[in-house]
This record gives sequence, structure tokens and C-alpha cells, in this order.
Amino acid sequence: MKSNLTRRAFVRTAAAGSAALAWLGVRRAPRVLAAESDKPALLGGTRIHTGGWPKWPEWRESWEPEILKVLRSGDWSSSGGGGLVGDFETGYAKLIGAKRCVATASGTTALITAMHVMGVDAGDEVITSPFTFIATYNTILMLKALPVFADTDPATLTMDPASIESRITERTRAIVPVHIYGLPCDMDPINTIAKKHNLAVIEDACQAWLAEYKGRKCGTLGDLGCFSFQNSKHIPSGEGGAVTGDREELLDRCAAFHNCGRATGTFHGSGCFSRGSNFRMQHFQASILLSQFDKLVQETQRRRENADYLSAGLKEIPGVQPLRLPENSRPVWHLYAFRYDPAQFHGLSRDKFCRAMGAEGIPCGGGYREQYNDGLLDEAIASRGFQRLFPAERLKAYRDSFQELKGNQQVCETTVGMFQTLLLADRSDMDHILDAVRRIQAHSAALAKVA
Ligand SMILES: *Cc1c(COP(=O)(O)O)cnc(C)c1O
Repeated sequence: MKSNLTRRAFVRTAAAGSAALAWLGVRRAPRVLAAESDKPALLGGTRIHTGGWPKWPEWRESWEPEILKVLRSGDWSSSGGGGLVGDFETGYAKLIGAKRCVATASGTTALITAMHVMGVDAGDEVITSPFTFIATYNTILMLKALPVFADTDPATLTMDPASIESRITERTRAIVPVHIYGLPCDMDPINTIAKKHNLAVIEDACQAWLAEYKGRKCGTLGDLGCFSFQNSKHIPSGEGGAVTGDREELLDRCAAFHNCGRATGTFHGSGCFSRGSNFRMQHFQASILLSQFDKLVQETQRRRENADYLSAGLKEIPGVQPLRLPENSRPVWHLYAFRYDPAQFHGLSRDKFCRAMGAEGIPCGGGYREQYNDGLLDEAIASRGFQRLFPAERLKAYRDSFQELKGNQQVCETTVGMFQTLLLADRSDMDHILDAVRRIQAHSAALAKVA
């Protein structure tokens, strides 16, 4: 039995790939670097990276006893408060330097909770970033509010603060900046605008666990912050989320809202219950999350080191450019992204560049599309509810305004992104990434000619 378990553990660790090796401190032998002049793999040359990449998510056998304890207790729901979900809330708040945290079923439900508590209501408008996971749009629509898009700054991939004020109307209730890819938004000007116009600020920090802006962590920079622990995220539990903040009264309201509106702390609503829903996290999820705090801290450090190394290398290659970061900020790189200029690659399109990278063994892609053109918002504003809530002229002007998002259009066309797990690999693997970009650059004229 024991040797079976050990063998199982070994196979699993081996299968988890180089992330597990890195975790154990084992390094793979560096591969001999391919000469830049070699033919690209897409043109029949040998691929640069053959070793695969770390798998995600990972788990440790040491997490199993805690999960089993939950299973055997029969106490699986967090409706009564406390338990492992309570421990997680305390621990996560401490980890990011917030006073309080309310754990939720997902990042989506965290956003709905936070916006409801900050007073976003049917017929309101919310200014947010168009360059984000679709849940940011959808949560605003769920509240029957209109997601109004600020433009994206192509140098940072986040909301351009200079584009916010012209979009404020008498219906605007809140700003939802998104720290996309773990890149902190420039929060000072955003908060200044919000204060001037009496708007709430709800951070979508669903990709920004431990990211920092001017010495404070994302999720503590506005009125409330929202996190996701979905399977792909840096601290995953299958599904899961959290709302964070410093004001007890707001967090009591969040706790009440996500627990069917039950009176919580100082918040009693109109009696025992107020409006709310069931957005609770389970103790199983909290157990897995509690096991990952140290892992998150260590892996964040590793991603940062490898991202800095890539940025320094890319800066020296014509046609690719690392992102600009707000002053005194530290991203956490849910994707490692950079800007791509086809003009400096003999017209090689961004998508073909990505295909050539893929052929070299380095998966990458373009990131988010111009999702406002995909029909979701047309469907929403054509619905009976939105037609009732907003004047027809407003909805028409709203639809037309998507064409003004020139910065975002550029971002959607020219960004290249690589998933976070690549940053958990070894330094020699980062050299493979840089070698591949150099090789494609050197052969871009030939690559641009093939279909
Ligand atoms: C993942 C994510 C969400 C939604 O989180 P879920 O846990 O998947 O519901 C929202 N916003 C952004 C930016 C995300 O990346």
C-alpha cells in the first residue's frame, strides 16, 4: 500500500512537468541554444523548444488530509460562517493587506456582490475596460446596468484614465478598473476622477493576486476588490472568488448579500433578511486555497523574475516591445504580454507570428478580441429590460461609441500573450522564447511569404 502510494506520487510529480521540478529545486540541464540563422520550424527547421511546459493546476499530496477532514465532517457548507472558509477569509485578507475578505463562489459572483453593495442598480451605467475577460461585461449586464467602455492604453493594456471623464453621464454609478493579466491599473488618477464625480471604484482584480501599485496590493485600492480562484488562476480551487476591502460596513453588506441576504455583523437590512443570493464558497474549496498561500508567493516571485528577463531580452529585438508599467508598480503576469509590430517583421501578421512561435514549441496567442462587436451587447440592449430602462437615443449613442475605442482596437490587433505557466519554467526555457522571437525576426521576410 505504502509503496503504491509513493509510486503514484512519483508518477504524478513527474507528470506535473517542470513546474513540479522547479518546486522541488531540481533543474533540467540547459539545452544548447539554436543559432538564430537556423530555419524556422514553420519553414521546416528544427523546433527550438521540445521539452513541454508546466501543467496547470498542480496539487500536492500534503493537501489531501485537510480535504478528507472536510469530507468526513459532513460540514460542507459555509452558511453558518467560520470553519475553513472563515480561516481562508482571514488569511487572504492578511495576505493582500485588506481589513476584510468575503469568500464567494466565483469571481463573477464577487463582482456582482461588490457592485450591488456599491449601489449599482438597474438603469445605471458603469465605466469599465473593454480589454478583459467577458465576465466583467456580463456582471454589469446581470445588474441591468450598461457597461460603458473607457479606452485601453496600448502601452499598458489597462484603462486609459484620460478617457474616463468624457464617458461619465448622470447615470454613471461606478468605475470598474480591470488589472488585466495582473498588470496594475494607474489607480491614482482613476480614484481622483471617481472622487470628483462621487463614483464607486470596484477593482476587477480577478487576475491580480499579489499585484502591487505604489506599495499597496491590488484589491485594496478602491472601495472594494474582486478576485477569482477559477481553475486557470494563480491560486485555483476549481471555482471560487473573494471580495476584499477595508470598510467593515461594506464588507458586512457583502457577507449578507452573498449569504441569501442574512443579517450579518452590523448590517441587518430591513430586519432578518435583505436582498441577496447564495454565492457562498464551500469548505472544500477553502481547504485547497489555504494550502496554496506559500506556493502563490513563491511562484509570483518566479514569474516576476522570468518576466523581467523576457522584457529585458525583448527590448533588444526590433518589432517587439515590453509593456509600460505604472510607476512604482509590480505586476503578477497572468499572461506575459508584449506588443508586436508587423511592419518591423516584413508585414508578418500577428497571427502568423504566433503560429511560427507555436511551431517552435512556444504556445502564444492574441488575447482578448474586440468583444463589443461580437453581438453580446447588441443582444443585451435589444432586450425588453434594457429597452425599458434606457432611452432609445442613449442605446444608439452607446452602440456607436464602440467605434471610438481606437486604443483598444490597436491592443486587440497587436498584443501577443503567453500563459502564466510558461513563466514557471526554467531560465533556459526563457532563452528558448527569446531565441524563437529572434529567429522569426531574422526570417520574417520568408515567413511573411508563406500562407
Ligand atoms: C476570471 C475572471 C473573472 C471571473 O471569474 P470567475 O471565477 O471565472 O467567475 C472576472 N474578471 C476577470 C478579469 C477574470 O480574469
